This record gives sequence, C-alpha cells and structure tokens, in this order.
Amino acid sequence: MVPHDPWEMALHQFQAAADYLSLKRGIRDYLATPHRELVVYFPVEMDDGAVRVFTGYRVHHSSVLGPTKGGIRYSPEVRISEVRALAMWMTWKSALMHLPYGGAKGGVACDPRHLSRDELQRLTRRYASEISVLMGPKSDIPAPDVGTNAQVMAWIMDTYSMHQGYSVPSVVTGKPIPIGGSVGRSDATGRGVMHVTREAARLRGVPLHGSRVAVQGFGNVGEAAARLLHEQGCTIVAVSDISGGCYNPSGLDPHAVLKHIQHGGTVPRFSGGDPVSNAELLELPCDVLIPAAIEGQITGENAARVKAGIVVEAANGPTTPDADAILADRGILVVPDVLANAGGVTVSYFEWVQDLQAYFWSEKEINDHLEHIMVSTFARVADLAASRGVTLRTAALIVAVQRVADALLTRGIYP
Ligand code: NAD
Repeated sequence: MVPHDPWEMALHQFQAAADYLSLKRGIRDYLATPHRELVVYFPVEMDDGAVRVFTGYRVHHSSVLGPTKGGIRYSPEVRISEVRALAMWMTWKSALMHLPYGGAKGGVACDPRHLSRDELQRLTRRYASEISVLMGPKSDIPAPDVGTNAQVMAWIMDTYSMHQGYSVPSVVTGKPIPIGGSVGRSDATGRGVMHVTREAARLRGVPLHGSRVAVQGFGNVGEAAARLLHEQGCTIVAVSDISGGCYNPSGLDPHAVLKHIQHGGTVPRFSGGDPVSNAELLELPCDVLIPAAIEGQITGENAARVKAGIVVEAANGPTTPDADAILADRGILVVPDVLANAGGVTVSYFEWVQDLQAYFWSEKEINDHLEHIMVSTFARVADLAASRGVTLRTAALIVAVQRVADALLTRGIYP
C-alpha cells in the first residue's frame, strides 16, 4: 500500500528510521502513537449575527524532550490525520535541531479568506480558550502555520494572558515584535530554506548563483525563500499561491510579486509571466524545486516528471513515500522537511528564550545563530546519509528518533 494520508506518510517515514535503529517493539509503538489529542467544537458569532460551529484540534505527539511546540493551521482541509502527522514531524524536527521541545500541532477547519477580521479574532480567541487546558509557556507553545500569522498569535497571547491576569508573551511564538516577538522570526523559515538550498547546491557541486528556482506557495515561507534566494543570485522562474502560479524562464522579481499580492492580486494574475497551474509548476524546467504550500504535492504520479535536480521541502510532508522512492532512484536530492523548514522552530525557540529572560537579541545575533545551526545540522545529516548509504530524510530521522528514544529510555517509563 502506498500511503498518501499524512499520518500514514509520517508513520511510514518513522518506521524506516526505526527499522534502521532496530528500535525495540514497545518504544517503537510508543513513538508511533500521539501522546494526547484534543478535539473541540465551538461556536462563533458571525458578523451577520448567525452562530457557526467550528472544529479545532490540538495534538501533542511527544513531550519527552520538553514542552510541546508546533504551529496552528487554519484551512478548510484541516483534519485529525493531518494535525497528528504534523505533530509527529514537529517532534523529529525539534529533536534534529537539538531544541528542548516535544512536538505538537493545532488547527481549525475554516477558510480564513472568507472570514472578516472580527470573525477571525472571535474564532481565534475562542479556539485559544478551548485549547488553554493544554497550552502554556512551560507546557505547549503554539506558532503560526498555513492560514495564521503574527496577528493571530497576538490574539492567542492576549487571550491566554487575560485568563492568567498578567502578560505571558512566552506562551506563543511568531508574535509581532512590539509584544515580545523576535526580530528575524517572520523570515526565519524562508531564511533556513535559503541556507539549506545553498548547502544542497554545494553538496551537488553546482553553483547557487544563477540556479533556476521554482517555488510552490507564496506565503510566509515561500515568499521569504524566493526573496532570499533571489538575493543570492538565483533566478526565480515560478511562484504560486492556492489559485495557481506564474512562470517566466527569464526570472520573476519576488518583490514585485509581493507588491502585486499586497494590492489584492493573485499570483496567476501577475503580469510578469505566464499563468501555470500548481501541478504544472512542479514539472517546470528548473534546478531547484521548493514546495512551500501543503502536503502530498509530489506523488507517485508526477515524481517521474520533476525536472529539478534538488527538491527542498519548505512545506511539511510535500513528498509522498512512493514519490520519495522515485526521486531517489532518479538521483534527485531531496532536502527533507524536518531539516529544510526547521529555521522557523529554531528562531521560535530563540523568541521563547528571549521572552522567558525578558532580554532581546539583535537581528544579527539571531541570523548568525540560525545560519550556524542550519549549516551544521545539514552537514551532520549529509555525512550520515553518505556514510550509511541512506537518503537525507532517513538520515535526519535516524538522528531525531535516536535522540528522542535515548531521552525516553534515560527518563524511564513512568511509573
Ligand atoms: P501561508 O498560509 O503563509 O502560505 C501558504 C501558501 O501556500 C499561500 O501562498 C497559499 O495560497 C498556498 N496554498 C495553500 N493551499 C494550497 C494548495 N492547496 N495548493 C497550492 N498552494 C496552496 O503558510 P506558511 O506558513 O508559508 O506555510 C507553508 C508550509 O510551510 C506549510 O507546509 C507549513 O506547515 C510549513 N512551515 C511553515 C512554517 C512557518 O514558520 N510559517 C515553519 C515550518 C514549516
């Protein structure tokens, strides 16, 4: 069976690393199971006075290494198997990056594009209240993900603080800077993607400067990745949003695309190139393909037609296991999500530390620390992959799963 369900994908990837590590049965079963899952159904009063009931989730996969950490997604497609998979990937990502966190994820099934600002605020505050039984600066710390942003994090921080009776900035990361957010956080995931793309090009012996890059998804992560790679001399041949993409083999200016979007435009309507579908974008002639939208985009059906030599998974879970095998057979280097997009949780960690200490760092300190962690972790994963003859994904998961399993065995099984 070829799994496309996100949770089945996450389990499939985990089992490959667990097999490699010969993890004992009970430990394997424990790590293959989420620790706790909260499903909430809550009412929100809409602007027209009608009441709508929404479904929200918060899943903790593991708290072995520390408080759980993971984003909150607002999308009509949010479902438990997706949130569960994203929570497990957060456990591995935090462990891989040596952060003192477990893995979590949350979400609300809604389309934020069809909610007014007031409706979004009421939905967010009610959802934050509902998950406050799990959330806390020492227990579970949310962050932005698809469909949420710094403003949503501000409402979560404020709601939690109102319940406590005092301000608790460290309960959430990815906040606006004036209320305890960190400089460098908004670009952090895209900046990390830029660093690992440069390292992957170096590993392949190809120059980054002049590389043709296609980016699927032009949100928080995709926009920053496209802009920062453009600054490194890459030619951004295509970008997309949910409504489709724009292609120009001579290159697009990410700043101009962003300006067009900020004026209410969509990517396929950008005048600097030709419209393409999201599916077509994945198969365009390019050197680096960066899926930066959602899961399950590169599949067994289209993997044979991917033309890029390097795939950098800025999104979580964009490549299905059958596609992974095809890309590996074809010699395409895949930088896995748990490494490629880990710049976000890394700078979220810096933000949390700054909030806890009430002492803030400069942007240079943040960016320098981030680069050091991304580059050294890439090197560690690439060395392991080369010495063991496995893919970068399996190597990254070996490091991460080993770290969590060691901590679990050291702590012991309670009671
Ligand atoms: P976002 O909401 O800011 O942007 C998402 C982009 O993808 C938008 O351009 C949107 O139009 C597009 N999109 C949404 N659904 C799509 C679909 N079905 N097909 C094609 N395009 C679609 O979200 P983001 O924060 O940039 O997150 C993007 C990916 O990166 C997700 O997989 C997320 O889990 C992952 N990620 C995000 C962060 C972070 O710091 N925000 C950190 C690590 C990983």
